[in-house]
Parts: sequence; C-alpha cells; structure tokens
Amino acid sequence: MARYHNFSPGPSILPEAVLLQAKEELLDWRGRGVSVMEISHRSEDFLGIAREAEADFRQLLNLNDDYAVLFLQGGASLQFSAVALNLSQPADRADYACTGAWSAKAIQEASRLLTVNKAVNTAPNHTSIPPLAEWQLDPKAAYLHYTSNETIHGVEFDWIPQTQAPLVVDMSSNILSQPLDVSRFGVIYAGAQKNLGPAGLTVVVVRKDLLGRARQDIPRLLNWEVMAASGSMDNTPPTFNWYLAGLVFKWIQAEGGLTAMAERNRRKSQKVYQCIDDSGFYISPVDVYCRSKMNIPFVLANPELESVFLKQARLENLLYLKGHRAVGGIRASLYNALPEASVDVLVAFMRHFEATRG
Ligand SMILES: *Cc1c(COP(=O)(O)O)cnc(C)c1O
Repeated sequence: MARYHNFSPGPSILPEAVLLQAKEELLDWRGRGVSVMEISHRSEDFLGIAREAEADFRQLLNLNDDYAVLFLQGGASLQFSAVALNLSQPADRADYACTGAWSAKAIQEASRLLTVNKAVNTAPNHTSIPPLAEWQLDPKAAYLHYTSNETIHGVEFDWIPQTQAPLVVDMSSNILSQPLDVSRFGVIYAGAQKNLGPAGLTVVVVRKDLLGRARQDIPRLLNWEVMAASGSMDNTPPTFNWYLAGLVFKWIQAEGGLTAMAERNRRKSQKVYQCIDDSGFYISPVDVYCRSKMNIPFVLANPELESVFLKQARLENLLYLKGHRAVGGIRASLYNALPEASVDVLVAFMRHFEATRG
C-alpha cells in the first residue's frame, strides 16, 4: 500500500491511523455484525458514538456549558446564510471583514438577508490583514463576521478581533490547528473536510445566549435553536461522518492535543516559508505577519515553469499542489493530518527544482 504526499486544500488528508481504524471497523463495528453506516441514529450505539465525539471535541477546545455544539450538514457555505438568519432581522446591519475569497462569499450570501458593512476590505489582492484600529465598525451591528484562515489566499489571523457585537468566525480551514480562547466568540463554524473529517459534516459552536434570535420563517434545519434542542437530530444527521470526526478528535488527543498540533503546524509551515524566503525563485505574495500555517500559496518568479513544477512534483508523489483557479500559482495545504515527513519531501523537491531550473 502506498500513501502519497497529499497537499489537497479540501477535501483533504485524514490521519492514516483514523483510516486504518475505520477500515478495521467498517464491516463489523465492535462485534455488532453491522457497520456504523447501517444503524439508526437513534440507537444506543450511535448515540454513544455521537456523545463521545462531542465530549472529545469539547475537551480539545476546553468548551464549557455556555456553548452548544451542533453537527450539521450543508457545509460552511450554508452557514453563510444561517448566521444571518439566526442572528439578525432583515432590517439589521452586520459587520464583515473581507480578507479573501471565502469571506467574500460569506458577504455575498449575507447581503441577500441584511445590510452588510464591510468593516475592512483587502480586495483585490487579499495579502494583508489591517489592524482592528483601521476597521470601520458599525456600532449597531448585529454581529461581526470574519474568516480566521483564508484557504485560497493563504491569509491567517494570529489575533482575535475584540468588539461589542457578538463575534462570528468561519474557522473551516484552521479549526483545531492550535489552542483557542473560545470565550471570545459568539459563534464558530467549520466545514469538516479540512481539519475535522470527510466532507458532509459541518460543526457549529454557538454560545447559548445567542439561541432564540432566529427569524420566524426560516427552515427548521437552519435554526440553531431547533438543532441544539434535538442534539443535532431533528432529522437524520450524517452519521458516518460524525463517527469519523470522532476518530479524528481521538487522534488529536493521542497526538498531544491542540498544543502539540500548534507546535507541529508552526514547524511544518516554517520549513516551507524558509525555503521560499531563502530563494529568489519562489515568491509568497502574503505579508509575513499574516501568513497562513495551513495553506501556503506561492508563485514561481518564472511562471512558465509552474506547469513543469507541478508535473515533476507529481512524479515524486507530491499531490494536489496546483493553486486555486482564482489566484493561480502553487498552493501547499498543510493540515493537521499531513505528516511532517511529507513537508520534508516537498521542501527537498522545491530546493532541488530550484537548483536545476533556477
Ligand atoms: C472550504 C471552505 C468553505 C466552504 O466549505 P463548504 O463545506 O464547501 O461549504 C468555507 N470557508 C472556508 C474558510 C473554507 O476553507
């Protein structure tokens, strides 16, 4: 069996130990003679799996009872609408930070439902994060929304905005990558397919005092209060994804938790940025202070070599390094599950490619 070096931006690499355990348990989960996929979400067995996954997620983030954790469907993109529908009325205004392609999409959806104030906007390049003092915040905003890591542009906050309004964050591509002070947030949401598990599951953490503000006419399944009251089981949840995310949480715990993840992620990304900064051959467009530890976009000084770079990388089993079509170039995604050894192979390849082609 060969596991290649997987730099996919999402859906992305899962820990090998998780895949092996899922394989081991696939046909017969704990001697029940059936798989997790084939049992009722209301069964004692599945309720146990669900509760344990939530408990482990809470342990990792140090979550207290002030917060509800929801296991939903629809991706982070459906939460772009759910945020506005649960926290505002049509006549309300909300602050949004526009720092990249994903926050721009969140703004596009929210604009259909309320008045958006772009408190800060780094378009079109999205290579910086201006300090909060330069943001134009609306004192009447129903909430402030930002994207903690821009998966496409490779821009990551290393600070948390401090505001009057409840703080809402799309943490899809850096959740569980480092310790987090959850008490600063009203709502945290994340599609699973970057750091939590396979696509098809969306995790929402919501401070309970924010439940009950939803608009009256919204679909039940978009209403966080309904989903919190039903344990995310108002309808059938994505059971297998929930189970797999639970295995990922256990893996993170076994690896030393979020402190260990943060240390490893810092080391992994540092190796790639060092390689870029040592060269005049690779160029990172992002301001140094807000470079992402999860997604590293870069270009070659000679863009004509990019397709050769990708082709040769592929021959070394370095996969999915092509940059997003919106920005081009190369992008290396280094999520929690990517082994440091894969980063070492990438960096050795980059140095060799530069030496022979630069
Ligand atoms: C991938 C991603 C999304 C979109 O997630 P879907 O599950 O496809 O809806 C939203 N925001 C960020 C930051 C992402 O990385």
